[in-house]
Amino acid sequence: MSREKTEAAAAFFAAELLNWYDANKRDLPWRRDRDPYRIWVSEVMLQQTRVDTVIPYYERFMERFPTVRHLAEAPEEEVLKCWEGLGYYSRARNLQAGARQVVELYGGVVPDDKAAISSLKGIGPYTAGAILSIAYNKPEPAVDGNVMRVMSRYFLLEDDIAKPSARTKIERLAASIIPEGRAGDFNQAVMELGALVCTPKSPGCLLCPVLAQCAGRAAGRERDLPVKSKAKPPRPELRLAALVKGRGEHAGKVLVRRRPDSGLLARMWELPHVLAPDEAARSRGRAAGAAAFAADARVLASATILADAKAAGVPEAPAVADADDSAASAGAVAAGTSMAGTAGDGRFDALSRGLAEEAGLLVRPVRLWSEEEHVFSHIRWKVDVYLAEFGFFLAGGREAAAGAAGGMAAEPGASYGGPSDADDLPEGWLWIGPEDMASLAFPNVFLRILNDYFARQA
Ligand code: SF4
Repeated sequence: MSREKTEAAAAFFAAELLNWYDANKRDLPWRRDRDPYRIWVSEVMLQQTRVDTVIPYYERFMERFPTVRHLAEAPEEEVLKCWEGLGYYSRARNLQAGARQVVELYGGVVPDDKAAISSLKGIGPYTAGAILSIAYNKPEPAVDGNVMRVMSRYFLLEDDIAKPSARTKIERLAASIIPEGRAGDFNQAVMELGALVCTPKSPGCLLCPVLAQCAGRAAGRERDLPVKSKAKPPRPELRLAALVKGRGEHAGKVLVRRRPDSGLLARMWELPHVLAPDEAARSRGRAAGAAAFAADARVLASATILADAKAAGVPEAPAVADADDSAASAGAVAAGTSMAGTAGDGRFDALSRGLAEEAGLLVRPVRLWSEEEHVFSHIRWKVDVYLAEFGFFLAGGREAAAGAAGGMAAEPGASYGGPSDADDLPEGWLWIGPEDMASLAFPNVFLRILNDYFARQA
């Protein structure tokens, strides 16, 4: 396309798009004023998440944290609880860290300067451009996936949008056509067109306000664009989780733990779980499993764990499912109907052994409760959840367990700290009942499991 033609097409694009946006824009809660904090929250929530999903979260969040100062001063646990179910929890933590920076460095006023706003935690070029243009009407581009798709099609751009160079090119192009005085509306109009008309799989070209000059449509390429190289598929991981039932004064409760301070799902609550042994170990099967584990002198022998659990008063595993377990979830698998649900398949051993080694927690898996899936951007978790009886925590927790594992090679019967008192939970562990679900933040997969479990115990 010649330069003149491109300029004419760009002018047409901006003018027609703004007319269309003025007449068709959706009434969304974050469009009701130009408060930069509210726009910031909405833009962070909208990353990777659909508008319909975001609206109720946004409204609850703004009610609970109406200003940047409220957010900055809130306990992180409350922020995560408010975000629970939206996923990508590092967004919430970064948002709060950014709010704290705004309070400390800018007196609670979100800066309108590109360098300053870009230095805030969690704010990348897209979010900076969205806040600066929508709240302050600064002529900054805000290029997200919607915008890259629309621009690639309209201008017939064949650059791979997975590459940073394509984003930079589109940002430059978008910046060059922002109409004076209407930066915020223009950026939102392009996003709105991408969300409502120029959609990923079936662009509604016949209803499109810029159809007359769309180069991609004229070339019959609208469905081929944008070019995007495939991301690596998420790595599959099998996790074995324990739904550990309380006894005595903790009857009706289950054991949960808080995740570490950094990394995936940092500081959220979860059921204790371990990475399953590799496929080779798992495929040893029912008969070979116990022998193989017993031969590994570096780890705690499951027989020893079970003997210790028995000594601590853990009841024997029932021959049939407990009455209160009989109402399994829709996704639950009845005992004995799946290899994953049988005591001899090696997974019971792997779970009890893994928790003992990693956390100093001794439990006795009873049967499979449910099988769940959860996909992160880079990992696909398959989670097999086992009902389990509580044994005890090794006094000294993980360190004691590690020491015990090391000493097992020389002296399999060695004492390794002994059991803790029943109430003496290590820091970051809790017995919880259904009433605690309102205050602790769980990732979706554990939220589903626990809500289902408590609903069926009620
Ligand atoms: Fe997208 Fe079709 Fe409109 Fe072109 S004409 S911008 S391909 S919806």
